[in-house]
Amino acid sequence: MNARIPLALGAARAAAALGRRLGRGGGTALPGLLAERIAPDAASALARPLAGGAVLVTGTNGKTTTARLLAGMLTAAGRPVVHNREGSNLTRGIVSALAAAADWRGRPRDARAIALMETDEAALPAAVRALRPRAAAFTNLFRDQLDRYGEVETVAARWREALALLPPDATLALNADDPAVAELALDWRGPVHWHSLAGARAGTGDPGPADARWCRACGAAYRYAARYAAHLGDWRCDGCGRARPVPDTAALAVERAPDGLRLDVSGLGETLLPLRGLYNAGNALAAVALARVLGLPPDAIRAGLAAARPAFGRGETVEFGGRRLRLLLCKNPAGATEALRLLAEDGAAEVAFLLNDRFADGRDVSWIWDAGFERLAGNVRRCRAGGDRAADAALRLRYAGWPAPASVTRSPAAFLDAVAAAPARDGPVDVLVTYTALLDLRAELSRRGAVAGAAVSG
Ligand SMILES: [Zn+2]
Repeated sequence: MNARIPLALGAARAAAALGRRLGRGGGTALPGLLAERIAPDAASALARPLAGGAVLVTGTNGKTTTARLLAGMLTAAGRPVVHNREGSNLTRGIVSALAAAADWRGRPRDARAIALMETDEAALPAAVRALRPRAAAFTNLFRDQLDRYGEVETVAARWREALALLPPDATLALNADDPAVAELALDWRGPVHWHSLAGARAGTGDPGPADARWCRACGAAYRYAARYAAHLGDWRCDGCGRARPVPDTAALAVERAPDGLRLDVSGLGETLLPLRGLYNAGNALAAVALARVLGLPPDAIRAGLAAARPAFGRGETVEFGGRRLRLLLCKNPAGATEALRLLAEDGAAEVAFLLNDRFADGRDVSWIWDAGFERLAGNVRRCRAGGDRAADAALRLRYAGWPAPASVTRSPAAFLDAVAAAPARDGPVDVLVTYTALLDLRAELSRRGAVAGAAVSG
């Protein structure tokens, strides 16, 4: 073991303790950042002794929910897990999680554990190199914050770079419904486990703009027998005959239930997933696919699905001032469009859009014009705009045909004051919110005693 590891772990532990004292959910990255500065190979040194090996989850949307679902399945199967959490998708977050699960010398507290890591596109090659995963899931590929990750093609190139670094016997869990993800199989000779929403009825209304349009193998345009969302669906290329692969794990039916989704998954039977939105059915399938690759028994897979809870900002609800706030993180056009579709299904009456443009949100906010806010025109009774770019948010809502915002506020405190000024009988408020705006809102809610502040960190 590298002699610098104990020193790196000491720094990580001190930073984690400080983060906890300051009550920062974002304290998840700093310990790893420090540890990596001191011992650049900390990730591989800490992951190597784990007998369960490593699993990576990547993709534009759904990483957090997919990884959490799989963590629940592993726990139900009695398998110890080391899991990085929200906001720590770069290698420093991976190191933070591994450091927290190791003793001071860098030996794992439970050597049977499996490392389950969600990874941003940008950090994927480094994570693959450090962890040498036995399985990797690719959920989907959408256009994300452009200035941070570049165009879809750049991300796809990064993915191919990561594939070349994977152990040749690693299994890819791929979303068959996303042609951009399916293209990875063109470069991969190892095993693949495909999953698909094949049995889901195509989404109601406009599935939104498609991000993958042309076949990489031949350049022809993709054609769809059904589209679930954006470019996800039953696709084929007339140019070269490539088409959606036959799934190993498929949803035979997806139905809305009062408190979530009822899924019928091939080989698993009917299961209740207590999460809303078709995109969460896709996340569940990705988790089931990985669980099968890892050999988990069906009972544990079902138990993990049934125990699902919304992740931070993925539909969690918070009581505030007698009203219920539902927090829906949106980071890119596809994610925002899916959140808006969920609100359209649920009949949202009061909706707020909090838009920041800090580094973690993407500095370029032009993506909001590609998100389908029009979907809710005529349904929203009252709306609010907020965040550092509140004026841009307000303008977007006006162009989408929403009513004039009842409040346009930059600070989360002013936003909550405006919400609290309305009577409790006005009912719930759905809050679409970018990443750093969500962190700020969470902190302000916590200050006002509306949420238990500890729920986020990890
Ligand atoms: Zn083709």
